[in-house]
Amino acid sequence: MDIRLKLLELLFRQKLMGKGLKGKTITPQIVSYSVTRACNLKCLHCHADALEALSNELTLREAKQAISEMADLGTEVIIFSGGEPLLRKDFTFYLTEHCNDLGIIPAMLTNGVLLDRKTAWELKEAGMIALGVPLDFATPERHDALRNTPGAFESAIKAIKACREVDLKVVITTMALKNNFDEIPKLINLLANLGVEQIVLYDFIPVGRGKELKDLAMSQEQRAKLLDYLYKMQEEKEMFFLVSGGSPLYPAIVLEMHKKYGTKPPDQFLRQFLVYTPIGCHAGINYFSLRPNGDIYPCPFLQLKVGNVREQSLADIWHNSKVFNELRNRSLLKEKCGECMYRDNCGGCRAKAYAQSGDYLASDPNCPIDLLKEKRVYPTTIECFGLCVG
Ligand code: SF4
Ligand code: SF4
Repeated sequence: MDIRLKLLELLFRQKLMGKGLKGKTITPQIVSYSVTRACNLKCLHCHADALEALSNELTLREAKQAISEMADLGTEVIIFSGGEPLLRKDFTFYLTEHCNDLGIIPAMLTNGVLLDRKTAWELKEAGMIALGVPLDFATPERHDALRNTPGAFESAIKAIKACREVDLKVVITTMALKNNFDEIPKLINLLANLGVEQIVLYDFIPVGRGKELKDLAMSQEQRAKLLDYLYKMQEEKEMFFLVSGGSPLYPAIVLEMHKKYGTKPPDQFLRQFLVYTPIGCHAGINYFSLRPNGDIYPCPFLQLKVGNVREQSLADIWHNSKVFNELRNRSLLKEKCGECMYRDNCGGCRAKAYAQSGDYLASDPNCPIDLLKEKRVYPTTIECFGLCVG
């Protein structure tokens, strides 16, 4: 489908039905493609352990071929990430155009260091639909410390302004951690003053360099407080929030809270990209991650190679990988998730299970069920999931 038609259809679904993408059975509707491992920041918690480019990253021809195969499988959105994708700027631009030719919606996560007004304009011209830029603290020194590079805060602010100047949609990505939790209200005020309307908060999963920072994950009590706070902010500030990475039900819990209290969530662009199918963790079901060297993971946070596009067709990997097929069969889940009446609607975060125990079918160590009970929202009432992109 022509990308303009697809965007129009999404807009209609959002405006008329209040819904985003229609879920399709066993279809990789959303793909996260890390185009390079190279990065110009050295974030302490980086899940991709990014620093230098790999010696065997996909060539442009190979990457285009992989994206064409995704289109054949029914991919609707590709989110380019890294490392830092603008370190392969021309490559990312060509792939963005290729997505447009195939009717796939392209978006990109960037740290903003290389994003000036001109680049933002060029990206928009190439057909990029939206950018995600990270900001974790309202205090520059604290943000720079986590991102391990002086000036990272300033770069992110400049990048946000550049996007706004050329009218390219920008979403802020924030790692919600035990040690920035208290600063989130200040950060949201700062972003509101910059005109930002959409924020994706990540529930930290200790993978990559983050393995060394396990203790920084929020407590369950903080997760509950965060939900209440985000609900309140969606009301007060007309901002829209997703909680991504390991918390697939959270955006939908807040939507359910709106229904319950008779309030309305803001009609922001990001709502178009919630996928309406009640499955919770979508790794290997509606989603996978392509790594710089062609490896395929079920999700950027579930770092388990299930194949490589240089060795097999994507269709073969998608349909025949043992890991993908096991992730699709929730009767194989173990322990608490295996016995849970909500396993089909939730399934737990498979990346958190794997990070904790080395078994991707084990229980989610941060099972949200008590939190859901407290909010009187049940997984069976939840219709959609948010994106877990990295
Ligand atoms: S494993 Fe599932 S829930 Fe966890 S981050 Fe990946 S897609 Fe999200
Ligand atoms: S036990 Fe918890 S995490 Fe696992 S499926 Fe049930 S509600 Fe989800």
